[in-house]
Amino acid sequence: MKITIIGTGYVGLVTGACLAVRGHQVTCIDKKRDIVEKINNMQAPIYEPGLEKILKEVVASGRLAAGNDLKNSVLASEVSIITVGTPFGDGVIDLSSIENSAREIGEALREKHDFHIVCVKSTVVPTTTDTLVKNILRAASGKEPGEFGLAMNPEFLREGKAVEDFMYPDRIVIGADDERSFAGMRKVYDGFLDVPIIQVNIRTAEMIKYVANALLASLISFSNEAASICEATGGVDIKEVLAAVTLDKRFNPRIGNKLADPEMNQYLQAGCGFGGSCFPKDVKALISFSMEKGYLPRIMASTLTVNQEQPLRLVGRLEKKLGTFENKKIAVLGLAFKPGTDDIRESPSITIITKLLEKKAQVFGVDPVATRNMESVIPQAFPNVLYTTDYKIALQNADAVILATSWPDFIKIAPEEYLQLMKYPLVVDGRRVLDKKSLEKAGCIYLGVGLV
Ligand code: NAD
Repeated sequence: MKITIIGTGYVGLVTGACLAVRGHQVTCIDKKRDIVEKINNMQAPIYEPGLEKILKEVVASGRLAAGNDLKNSVLASEVSIITVGTPFGDGVIDLSSIENSAREIGEALREKHDFHIVCVKSTVVPTTTDTLVKNILRAASGKEPGEFGLAMNPEFLREGKAVEDFMYPDRIVIGADDERSFAGMRKVYDGFLDVPIIQVNIRTAEMIKYVANALLASLISFSNEAASICEATGGVDIKEVLAAVTLDKRFNPRIGNKLADPEMNQYLQAGCGFGGSCFPKDVKALISFSMEKGYLPRIMASTLTVNQEQPLRLVGRLEKKLGTFENKKIAVLGLAFKPGTDDIRESPSITIITKLLEKKAQVFGVDPVATRNMESVIPQAFPNVLYTTDYKIALQNADAVILATSWPDFIKIAPEEYLQLMKYPLVVDGRRVLDKKSLEKAGCIYLGVGLV
């Protein structure tokens, strides 16, 4: 099939590249010239494991090209998939990029005689596609639904594992209100074998995405709330508590003699909170949408409150330990919101670094791939805040280190290295991934979420 992707960020580029791998002819449209140039030069504009490799293949074979001529790409393709950003701003979801894309596609459809499906893949609050997008398409194209197809196909990929998640999804959700649109979208996913395809109406598809993200976010905040109760109790380690809780076969079924160890249990772990481009904004958007409809969601509101407090609680505990942050050098291991990505949107490290700077600490942030992105949010300013990819530079003479992102290389740092490099070997485990016993045995001081 010939497919146009509109918005070539994390979701758009992965979608485009993976659909091209599956044999489709894809044009990725983005309004940013540098993104278009990089893609056509076979370079991934974002860091995502495995992406550049498949990008090279599909661009070289001619199955994927990038550009900014939306109109001609729509005219030449059968399906347009909208993957532009839907940030949260001013108390509601910002749908302006969706509106602009729908308008531009609609204007192109005015000149098109063949049937064309417009599919929203961006995360949008329920009713966006079958009201706002539909109405814009109608007005801009002068056509009625039926003359063009309309679908909603939420995306569930995780950054850091995006290519794998897209190529081997758990389910494909297709929302549509007519058989022709369902059929067209099933054709898009023809090459995806043994994957359940869930066909629902458009607003159910939109809701599935939000409920999925709100559930996962609430598991994290639930674990963090339990961690705070453990801290208040003293002598109880949340890690031991949750490890035992999740051995329940309803969380962790046995397959033969082995535990299934589902990935969902990774959301039942304490840490310094969730971030990223999805959980925070999606939970906020669902709350605001729901309130507009007359229902106040309380669990979801608390999920956000707990999450906002979580990194600050950690900084507060560290401050108590150190007495003051003034003239103290603090290393922050990890800037990305999770390992495997350079995405720092809503990363807990932003909250941690901002608070440390406010308290007059000197901060050294470390990340293998996200330093440049962090610099656009909190610029480097000598000597107050500096970034490096080398943890050894950051640990040198530090008064404390906070592990904020569980990059494998940070987990592997030997206890002796902390001892040799740091002025005061105080290790704050913001992800509960370090070995407390071996750190303490080596002479480090350990402080972890959910343990006092
Ligand atoms: P992003 O910000 O990385 O990318 C969006 C891209 O769209 C940008 O490159 C921007 O230049 C481009 N764009 C905006 N308006 C445009 C227009 N009118 N024409 C052409 N290009 C335009 O966003 P993202 O992280 O890929 O997220 C996209 C959507 O997918 C969001 O709704 C998000 O919630 C959802 N989503 C994201 C993830 C994720 O992990 N990032 C996962 C699932 C769903």
